[in-house]
Amino acid sequence: MPELPEVEALAEFLRERAVGRVIAAVDVVAFQALKTVDPPVTALGGLTVTGVARHGKFLDLDCDGTHLVTHLARGGWLRWRDDLTGAKPVRPGKGPLAVRVRLAPDGDGRAPGFELTEAGTQKRLAVYVVRDPGDVPGIASLGPDPLAADFTPEALGAILAGSRTQIKGLLRDQKVIAGIGNAYSDEVLHVARMSPFKIAGTLTEAQVAELHEAIVTTLRDAVERARGLAAKDLKAEKKSGLRVHGRTGEKCEVCGDTIREVSFADSSLQYCPTCQTGGKPLADRRLSKLLK
Ligand SMILES: [Zn+2]
Repeated sequence: MPELPEVEALAEFLRERAVGRVIAAVDVVAFQALKTVDPPVTALGGLTVTGVARHGKFLDLDCDGTHLVTHLARGGWLRWRDDLTGAKPVRPGKGPLAVRVRLAPDGDGRAPGFELTEAGTQKRLAVYVVRDPGDVPGIASLGPDPLAADFTPEALGAILAGSRTQIKGLLRDQKVIAGIGNAYSDEVLHVARMSPFKIAGTLTEAQVAELHEAIVTTLRDAVERARGLAAKDLKAEKKSGLRVHGRTGEKCEVCGDTIREVSFADSSLQYCPTCQTGGKPLADRRLSKLLK
């Protein structure tokens, strides 16, 4: 799932290629992905892309004041196409293609564009056509952006104060902080040397400062690594940059301990016991059942 760094890189990638170009048409292939009816998606035809922004994990294409907003969800991705002139018409219900955005041909006759695709059977990719990004409920309810200047240690402290939530869940909650998902929350907690199950409201001022530093440096580093990469290369870059997430059974590159995981119904978290939980493995209901 693309998180803040990947969506930031995608926004930059699209900004360089699409801004200033006219949209020829937007073809919606997966009808369930389109969450709005007014303005209609056809209203985008003929408009010029004037800007590309990120809000949390949402990608926002500003087209003369009408916004095409996308949330890529777990299996979604963006694929840039240098030339869509020969592209076959798309048939609903076949393959991963959800939306195709065709741009008007340029001087050399090529008509570039991009496609939103979604792998897997869980179809969660969402597309909105709105007059204001704030009309998208998931954007309206976003918490502060962790890369914004006003996301200070004090601001984080105010968010955590009094919270009875486990820190892992809190970091992933888009209403609390925007843009961090399952992967980067694992990474942040590893950098901060903090148990994922620690109760947010119990952090000392020093721990809040360490967590803040871990959030900002982890995300900034990931944005830096992703910057300038082609959309198709971002997924591999994200994976190779992660130190604990998705690395169960591998060695922690900080201390050499074995990275462990805790499984939930439809996700799992990874952590290093030595770095994060005083060397003690966290209880994993699924695993302990298997060991009985
Ligand atoms: Zn470690």
